[in-house]
Amino acid sequence: MSTLDSKIPPGPIDKKWTYHKGHARIVNPANKRRIDVIVVGTGLAGGAAAASLAEQGYSVKAFCFQDSARRAHSIAAQGGINAAKNYQNDGDSTYRLFYDTVKGGDYRSREANVYRLAEVSANIIDQCVAQGVPFARDYGGLLDNRSFGGVQVSRTFYARGQTGQQLLLGAYSALMRQVGKGAVQMFDRHEMLDVVIVDGKARGIIARNLITGEVERHGAHAVLLCTGGYGNVFFLSTNAMGSNVTAAWKAHKRGAYFGNPCYTQIHPTCIPVSGTHQSKLTLMSESLRNDGRIWVPAKLEDAQAIREGKKKGRDIPEADRDYYLERRYPAFGNLVPRDVASRAAKERCDAGFGVNRTGEAVYLDFNAAFERYGKQQANVLKIDNPSKEKIIELGKAVVSEKYGNLFDMYENIVGENPYEHAMKIYPAVHYTMGGLWVDYNLQTTVPGLFCLGEANFSDHGANRLGASALMQGLADGYFVIPYTVSDYLADDIRTGPIDTKRPEFVAAEKEQVDRIDHFLNNKGTKPVDDFHRALGKVMWDKCGMARNAQGLQEAIQEIRAIRDDFWKNVRVPGKAGEFNQELEKAGRVADFLELGELMCMDALNRNESCGGHFREEYQELDGPQKGEAKRDDANYAYVAAWEWLGEAGKAQLHKEALTFEEVKLTQRSYK
Ligand SMILES: Cc1cc2nc3c(=O)[nH]c(=O)nc-3n(C[C@H](O)[C@H](O)[C@H](O)COP(=O)(O)OP(=O)(O)OC[C@H]3O[C@@H](n4cnc5c(N)ncnc54)[C@H](O)[C@@H]3O)c2cc1C
Repeated sequence: MSTLDSKIPPGPIDKKWTYHKGHARIVNPANKRRIDVIVVGTGLAGGAAAASLAEQGYSVKAFCFQDSARRAHSIAAQGGINAAKNYQNDGDSTYRLFYDTVKGGDYRSREANVYRLAEVSANIIDQCVAQGVPFARDYGGLLDNRSFGGVQVSRTFYARGQTGQQLLLGAYSALMRQVGKGAVQMFDRHEMLDVVIVDGKARGIIARNLITGEVERHGAHAVLLCTGGYGNVFFLSTNAMGSNVTAAWKAHKRGAYFGNPCYTQIHPTCIPVSGTHQSKLTLMSESLRNDGRIWVPAKLEDAQAIREGKKKGRDIPEADRDYYLERRYPAFGNLVPRDVASRAAKERCDAGFGVNRTGEAVYLDFNAAFERYGKQQANVLKIDNPSKEKIIELGKAVVSEKYGNLFDMYENIVGENPYEHAMKIYPAVHYTMGGLWVDYNLQTTVPGLFCLGEANFSDHGANRLGASALMQGLADGYFVIPYTVSDYLADDIRTGPIDTKRPEFVAAEKEQVDRIDHFLNNKGTKPVDDFHRALGKVMWDKCGMARNAQGLQEAIQEIRAIRDDFWKNVRVPGKAGEFNQELEKAGRVADFLELGELMCMDALNRNESCGGHFREEYQELDGPQKGEAKRDDANYAYVAAWEWLGEAGKAQLHKEALTFEEVKLTQRSYK
């Protein structure tokens, strides 16, 4: 079935990576200096890769569109990073992290990659601690852990609610050290617009200087795309406003296959949408589910009274609350994986139990945690017979110590004090498991073009477990790519500098200049955001938390119509030779408009439900698993890798068969 070679090394699963590293070719230090590598993206994946490759001796050019490498979207990550250190002595191991990840991804990931990820996870923590990342520590000074969804151990390392920021500062410091030494040339405020292929290999990029508007050519012996996820195709998401698919999409159009584009993660705990004026959604970290309990009223009349403002959540007595995750999934409770928790919230809200004005919100309540921690703290402080008020006061202080910045953020946005009133949350688009297809070496189907971090499809299957994205980005950047890219570059020691005057560079540059000219001279009437918002609505309604064949077919037609309208009627003000954010957006939305169609095609092709991909036609209809996703392993245990055939909507499907030797395929159950 497969025409794709995933290049999985031979041998038992726990020896594959060691074997591969031992047999990979390397480039000697004198030759490394003569080899150029372009790294697009300076988030955790790109920052780690650029710093590591420069440290090894390669000559690196790093690009990001923000004003500073340290403003990559990774900075937004809140909750933590997983690693199989077993510091809690609670039964964790490399195998368990591997197993949890394959199961969490609903058996749609490549075993060998996932095992390697689990294997190097412990090194990441050591690396970051050595860089000075201030992970939370327990009373005795040891690194602390908490739990994330889909697991029964505590393996998540964290720095309050700012783990991404602290990890990125570590990677950024390592990167800037190399910039200081001249080993990395940093191009911030530069946007990659295309990848240049010479004789079948990636040999450089076309980038636009976002300040001057100049379109530039950059050559290199290998190009690494570390450009993040494409959740913003939905317009509203928890991603940074600038996150986009352009780099990956342009690579796709130059021959890189796109893997599993329809796998999107909808995160269960986000601040609900408040109106049509909104352009961004805010995550409330999954770490909150360690202590917060999710519920809706058990009675429809109570839910209605809350929606009408006649009652508050705290007016509902304990007996009339439905802690639906604890009820449905007693083994994992509030810490079921994200796809399961999101669908359960939607199910309750669709049934009429939602608790905000729009009926699309559930409660995340910390009262039980205030009481539990308060009692503990009273014991520690040796307070005899503390009053209920004292207990709650002490408990709130503990919760504030753990999640204070998240509570503050909630209050700033919603205008309600979450220590007094349970938070209201609802699922929102958060992460994309799909991305450029890569083999075990993180190489795309274009030789010399590699893809790391959220931008690739690897490791998480159909659903990513919480705190595993940071782990994957840093694993790819610090520990995997230094070996695999060297193996590739060993053939390039005699190539010499890449000549950017070659016709391939000239032609690629012209294409981009022409496209910019088109936008600016189109003289349409509608701003870019109108098209983006329209696309997002189609995607959310018909390719979001639940999908069905009819909706997906409609979505494809609707996206085509929006795309036609966009090219005819978009209005982009300003000029090419200046800082022009509308122009930047136009290019990104043009790419989203093609990607959206591919996502729907992929979702339509996959006649099963798995992980974040829930097809309404494929669910359990009876028995204890009623309403749960129904996979079809006989027909769909493959990675869908799409090849661009010159036109949106015409992509050709290739299949990488997934074989499971270590983990038995079973129905995922968190009951
Ligand atoms: C609110 C939020 C909280 C999260 N919390 C967690 C968490 O607690 N734990 C966890 O594991 N995961 C978390 N995630 C997911 C995680 O943060 C991301 O998956 C991860 O940081 C992505 O890292 P990355 O390096 O792949 O890409 P990014 O950090 O998105 O970086 C992309 C880089 O590529 C550059 N770039 C993109 N396109 C171009 C282009 N065309 N030209 C030039 N440069 C370009 C950008 O400038 C940027 O430097 C969270 C996500 C969100 C949205």
